[in-house]
Amino acid sequence: MIKVVVAGGGWSGCAAALAAAKAGAQVLVLERTDMLLGTGLVGGIFRNNGRYTAAEEAIAMGGGDLFVAMDANVRHKGISFPGHHHASFYDVCSMEPLVKRVLQNYGIDIRTQARVVDVQKYAKTIQAVILDNGEVIPGDVFVDTTGTAGPMGNCLKYGNGCAMCILRCPTFGPRLSLCAKAQVKEFMGQKTDGSFGAMSGSCKLNKESLSLELRGKLAKEGAVVLPVPPNLIKSGTLGKKACSQYALPEYAANLVLIDTGHVKLMTSYFPLNDLRTLPGLENARYEDPYGGGVGNSVRYMGIAPCNNNLKVDGVDNLFCAGEKFGVLVGHTEAIVTGLVAGNNAVRHSLDMQYLTVPRVLATGDYISFVKEQMISEAGLRLRYTFSGSVYFERMKAIGLYVIDRAEIADRVEKAGLTDIYSRCLV
Ligand SMILES: Cc1cc2nc3c(=O)[nH]c(=O)nc-3n(C[C@H](O)[C@H](O)[C@H](O)COP(=O)(O)OP(=O)(O)OC[C@H]3O[C@@H](n4cnc5c(N)ncnc54)[C@H](O)[C@@H]3O)c2cc1C
Repeated sequence: MIKVVVAGGGWSGCAAALAAAKAGAQVLVLERTDMLLGTGLVGGIFRNNGRYTAAEEAIAMGGGDLFVAMDANVRHKGISFPGHHHASFYDVCSMEPLVKRVLQNYGIDIRTQARVVDVQKYAKTIQAVILDNGEVIPGDVFVDTTGTAGPMGNCLKYGNGCAMCILRCPTFGPRLSLCAKAQVKEFMGQKTDGSFGAMSGSCKLNKESLSLELRGKLAKEGAVVLPVPPNLIKSGTLGKKACSQYALPEYAANLVLIDTGHVKLMTSYFPLNDLRTLPGLENARYEDPYGGGVGNSVRYMGIAPCNNNLKVDGVDNLFCAGEKFGVLVGHTEAIVTGLVAGNNAVRHSLDMQYLTVPRVLATGDYISFVKEQMISEAGLRLRYTFSGSVYFERMKAIGLYVIDRAEIADRVEKAGLTDIYSRCLV
């Protein structure tokens, strides 16, 4: 049986594992921390703007299990907030165990507290990965979905220091790239001023620390917009944000709060004493990162060169997805690239033609576009998401943004890809 080893259990790793298992492989996920989902443990927003189209495409292609799980675990759906429409918010507190069960139902083996620290390679082929306890894990094909966030040294060098985020580097050890260990030369995303990395664009507040009135409003409406007093507006921080879909003037002039189980505060960081001057936030405290008054995680520190099939350049049996693939933002973006990587990992072992998602579909156009853009420095300073900024504008301009399910399914069918991810290839 083909053995696919996925390093990194964020949304992209979960999707890669799922696609490989559905295609008939034996799959092992190795995750550094004690939980799956990575940065997805603190996100929650999906189906907003063009993410709706991408999610429905994945469903029509037979790879919708993770979106179905998110849909089943929403706190709010059909929400509009500045620049975003028809958004759903999954509950970040209960999403992870649900995803774990989905993967286990497909027979996927999940090992947490299993940090990959090295590879065994012969010529251009990886034969095994090595864990921090010295254990050697052999495989036929490998998928690097270790993300690009942190570790602490990078947050110190390119951000405001470790803000103690959900990635918990001091506890579980720093992120480590499988590609880098296989001698693949990685590259970094940049901020608008050309410096490296970008700071994550939201924090979480403890819900109980908000006033009863604000909590009630959030529970009812899902999102609340609080004007920021003029003396506290710091629009200069927008260019540093990882989430360029929220780098809009409205996000500097207001605090946008979203109910994802915690209260998601749509800004990279906000000094606690200033925050507490706003009505309803007098007793606010940060839940993630704990140092949300000072900083946040820094991302895009290790992106792998790869082709549109998500095969990493220079190594025969290595694929990548999620933020490892490009300067992308989002759970949806991580999942759709993960599905391609997982499916192609199995095709690789079977010597089959790789799956290339065509540009008539949002997923295919997105992958190709991001790759084309990242060739230039200017392109590395942008972030790509179905939900806003340059790529959503492109989706609208070329007619790829569609929210009619039947129409999306029809497009997938015309591309000959209906249920492609649910076909066993072995
Ligand atoms: C604070 C914050 C809020 C966000 N909010 C949203 C949102 O609301 N909606 C949205 O769509 N997107 C959101 N995003 C962006 C989104 O979470 C990411 O772009 C996407 O989920 C990245 O997924 P990934 O799998 O590529 O990487 P990651 O989520 O970074 O996952 C990588 C995983 O690999 C593991 N790992 C690293 N090194 C190793 C190793 N050597 N061995 C084993 N495991 C390893 C890590 O522990 C981690 O679990 C948010 C991001 C942040 C930081």
